[in-house]
Amino acid sequence: MHSESCDVTQISLTSLTTDHVRLRLGTSFDELSSEAATLKKRIGKRRVVNIHTTAHGGGVSEILKANVPMLNTLGIETSWLLLSAPPVFFQVVKRLYHAVYGRPGGGIPLDESTRHLYEEVFHIALPKLMAHVREGDIVILHDPQTLGFAPALRELGAYVVWRLHLGTDTPNTETELARNFLGPYLDHVDASVVLCPEFAASWNFQMPVEAIPPSIDPRSAKNLMLDEEHVDALLDELAQQRPPEGSAATLAPDLFQRRYVLQVSRWDRAKGISGLLGEFSLLAKRPGSRDVDFIIAGPAPHAVADDPEGNEILAETFRIHTSLPMPIRDRVKVLLLPMDYPEHNAFLVNALQRRASVIVQNSSAEGFGLSVTEAMWKARPVVARRVGGIRCQIVDGESGILIAQDAPEGTLASAISSLLEDPCAAHALGQQARCRVEERFLPDTHLSRIISFLSRTVPA
Ligand code: UDP
Repeated sequence: MHSESCDVTQISLTSLTTDHVRLRLGTSFDELSSEAATLKKRIGKRRVVNIHTTAHGGGVSEILKANVPMLNTLGIETSWLLLSAPPVFFQVVKRLYHAVYGRPGGGIPLDESTRHLYEEVFHIALPKLMAHVREGDIVILHDPQTLGFAPALRELGAYVVWRLHLGTDTPNTETELARNFLGPYLDHVDASVVLCPEFAASWNFQMPVEAIPPSIDPRSAKNLMLDEEHVDALLDELAQQRPPEGSAATLAPDLFQRRYVLQVSRWDRAKGISGLLGEFSLLAKRPGSRDVDFIIAGPAPHAVADDPEGNEILAETFRIHTSLPMPIRDRVKVLLLPMDYPEHNAFLVNALQRRASVIVQNSSAEGFGLSVTEAMWKARPVVARRVGGIRCQIVDGESGILIAQDAPEGTLASAISSLLEDPCAAHALGQQARCRVEERFLPDTHLSRIISFLSRTVPA
């Protein structure tokens, strides 16, 4: 492995003024400032350092983008480091990702030669990391792909936290493989954070553990209120886009003149994209959805640095799409959202979500599912699979509709159809969804729980 292919760099984020943070935290600002002051007193000059492997695309980068600047403004010196590594490392990481969800995947065995490969990256990148971390710092390692730093960080005298954004509550032989592979690094971790209490089951943690759901940033380009003209302009831009290479889709300029059902996700097998194409085809035949289009939107796959399967899943999506009969094929659109300017990408997602009649999340497994939170925040009616963190977001029938993972084919299509045919019911679900996010999944609750967890666990 070439040493140049492994690096640790700091992501620079625009800092936020106190007024900006006050706007994001609303009435909780004063309370959070005082909680942050208590933590600050405890940790003194020690800093909080986050490490992850991608700056854009996916839920973890969304969270860090929002929270790192806010914590800094609240007086907790916090940074975000990016570990880069060669593609072969990310194949190992993807294998671990599947195993943590309890499923096989990728041909890579989780054996000693894979361990050697995994560890080599941390070994090579360690001197780079040392330029950013001091003894006593609190280092938050996000997901399996950064956990390999734990032993060296412990030796340095850092307080090591592992934050897992994936999981399942039904351990099996695959989760055991993940546990066995990651166990030696976990032994050097001081505290862990999971998404839901059930996700701790497969790990047998011997350390303080807390379940902390994430949050969305209501003031970010992804979630802030957009006026109608702005949404029109962004959707126009998408409609004018050339169809992605390999796709049989035509992107008619009048695309967004009709109602549409939307899923926004990475090109990942767990997002249930092939099944969704099937449900869309069923739905397209129903009389009540003749005026409806179906959109699956995701990032240009090369842009998500730590996701090596993106191209494969996208190619599979195009293959299935091409095989759909006309005229259904023309009503199902696969959109690749440009990622060259992350903020612009976020605005495009925002506009797409805002105008959707119904938003779907057909995942077979999900850590939390921030795409769902974003849709709920925009008061959209959501139909989603009853998996992972989606279960703590949606109260079935109140703030969205949940579909069992093993529900017969067509169940998802029927639920979407019922909402398309009853806009009043859809509207009510959307309003409840927004309230639920407001109560539970905004940065005030999230930051307060993180700060309180660190205040209780990090030694003075
Ligand atoms: N996302 C994005 N651009 C895209 C597709 C997805 O910014 O083209 C974002 C999406 O809005 C959400 C995140 O990626 O904020 C996906 O997070 P989620 O928790 O739903 O799933 P993950 O990708 O972490 O499995």
